[in-house]
Amino acid sequence: MTKYSYACRDYPEMEDCPGEVAAATEEEVWKLMELHAVAAHGEDPSQWTVEDRAFLQTLIGSE
Ligand SMILES: [Zn+2]
Repeated sequence: MTKYSYACRDYPEMEDCPGEVAAATEEEVWKLMELHAVAAHGEDPSQWTVEDRAFLQTLIGSE
C-alpha cells in the first residue's frame, strides 16, 4: 500500500516542529495537515492560498 506523508519540518522556518502526518491517501494527508496547522500553529487553512497549497503539495511524499 502506498503511504503518503508530510513532515512539518520540511516547510521553511518550521524546522523545529516535530509534527508529521501519514495516511493511505493524499486527501487524508491534507486533512491531517490542516488539523496539525490548526492545533500546533493556530493557522486557518481556509486562508491558505492556491500558491500555499501548491507548495505544500510538493512536500507530500509517497512511498
Ligand atoms: Zn508543525
